[in-house]
Amino acid sequence: MSLLEVSNLHISLRTQDSVVKAVRGVSFSLEPKDTLAIVGESGSGKSMTVKGIMKLLPKAGRVTDGKIVFDGTDITQFGERQMRKLNGSEISMIFQDPMTSLNPTMTVGKQIMEVLHEHKKMSAQNQKARAVELLSLVGISSPEKRFGQYPHQLSGGMRQRVVIAIALACDPKILVADEPTTALDVTIQAQILELMKSLQDKISTSIILITHNLGVVANIANKVAVMYGGEIVESGTVDDIFYEAQHPYTLGLIASIPKIHEESVTLKTIPGTPPDLIDPPAGCPFAPRCDKAMKICHLRQPENKQISGTHRSACWLQHSMAKQAAEKEEHHE
Ligand code: SF4
Ligand code: MG
Repeated sequence: MSLLEVSNLHISLRTQDSVVKAVRGVSFSLEPKDTLAIVGESGSGKSMTVKGIMKLLPKAGRVTDGKIVFDGTDITQFGERQMRKLNGSEISMIFQDPMTSLNPTMTVGKQIMEVLHEHKKMSAQNQKARAVELLSLVGISSPEKRFGQYPHQLSGGMRQRVVIAIALACDPKILVADEPTTALDVTIQAQILELMKSLQDKISTSIILITHNLGVVANIANKVAVMYGGEIVESGTVDDIFYEAQHPYTLGLIASIPKIHEESVTLKTIPGTPPDLIDPPAGCPFAPRCDKAMKICHLRQPENKQISGTHRSACWLQHSMAKQAAEKEEHHE
């Protein structure tokens, strides 16, 4: 049994006069100790997917179809109250900007103790000991001293470490990190990612890492799901994705990872813009930007095809019939 099983998830966002189909048929599973990276450009539906799972959707958002099973329990229909019990203790989430998730008027130690108080029956003395232990776990030196300090007395990187400590306070089964380094400078980003990697050996929490940067996931994740236009277009192990990528969008992302030896960090990007999710395309969402697009790509959505035991890709190139049809087409032209 998987720790988290998401099947055919659909999420819509109502705007004043239209409905944005932000997530369309997303399925994935998370096993204990997995680190799954969900990768895609902004607007691809990656944040919305996890917000839908955690019932943290904006007011206009709604899960319209699909099933979410967490640790054997179907939580698809869970209301806010039931979910609150899970959030923070069983599933924890950290966000981009540590300042928005910390209380500026309370010492960091107190903030960790508060979470422990809310979810665990623990004496104040044990709460304090655990808080210090957590600060040390996330790589904060002199944790006893930092315990009594306020967020503004800490650097940005240290604040993000505190946020991670708070998220881990109750030994959650899943830690969701939504672009946890975006608000930080590059050196600190690397340190936080290094921390997340080192945590994998120390704790048994599974991690879902959401990022627009495929480059950062190779060292951290064991599984990758690439999202485009509200769908998972390719998924697999890190090796599947980095060495055996099949989907033209994934190949484009890989090509746009800046090389270390390149002096300028100008990003190669994939030309074109993402699809309009108010009126999603009938065929492959990537077709207008894909240099391999065939006729069928514009007409029919490719099925998400199993390539190996771990590897899936939703692209007509994986269908031998489509290739034949395309060849025939070319022949006739
Ligand atoms: Fe490109 Fe067609 Fe594959 Fe979509 S289905 S990625 S358009 S080749
Ligand atoms: Mg986002």
